[in-house]
Amino acid sequence: MKKVVYKLPGELKKLVDKNRQETTAWVKKIRSKNPRNLDDVVHGLHDEAFSSFSCLDCANCCKTIGPRLTDKDIAGLARHLKMKPTAFTEKYVVTDEDGDYVFREHPCPFLLPDNYCMVYESRPKACREYPHTDRKRFYQILSLSHKNCETCPVVFDIFEELKKVNF
Ligand code: SF4
Ligand code: SF4
Repeated sequence: MKKVVYKLPGELKKLVDKNRQETTAWVKKIRSKNPRNLDDVVHGLHDEAFSSFSCLDCANCCKTIGPRLTDKDIAGLARHLKMKPTAFTEKYVVTDEDGDYVFREHPCPFLLPDNYCMVYESRPKACREYPHTDRKRFYQILSLSHKNCETCPVVFDIFEELKKVNF
């Protein structure tokens, strides 16, 4: 796999749109086959990509999408900031159209100018798990990951590599 090169979300969206038909067909094929070695291949690509690409040179996810927040996330963030959960929610949280708690603003209010996370030790679970290319049963999140190609340059490159594999 080639070293990942940073791309703005707008550039990624254009590339995803260009490849959409091909990638959608690939997702459909993989979903029907559910290859036994898919997780091993994806996890290998994940490790390879992140061994030479730092999220600190990107932060696209923190700038543009933001995590879903659980009650536990909110309690942890409020504690980290020495605030009451109700005060934290009032200041930083809204409910989106799906009824989920999300941050009121993008970029994330805790993203620092150098792309560090101000609340790193207490960051939400969804932030810790993004972009999910190291999770088990990857076949369950193929469509979500295809969507994430529009945000994350690593996921985009992983998909391009995956399409070359003879599953
Ligand atoms: S809490 Fe931290 S990791 Fe999560 S979106 Fe905000 S800046 Fe990024
Ligand atoms: S997870 Fe992806 S989108 Fe988020 S900072 Fe890292 S490389 Fe960028």
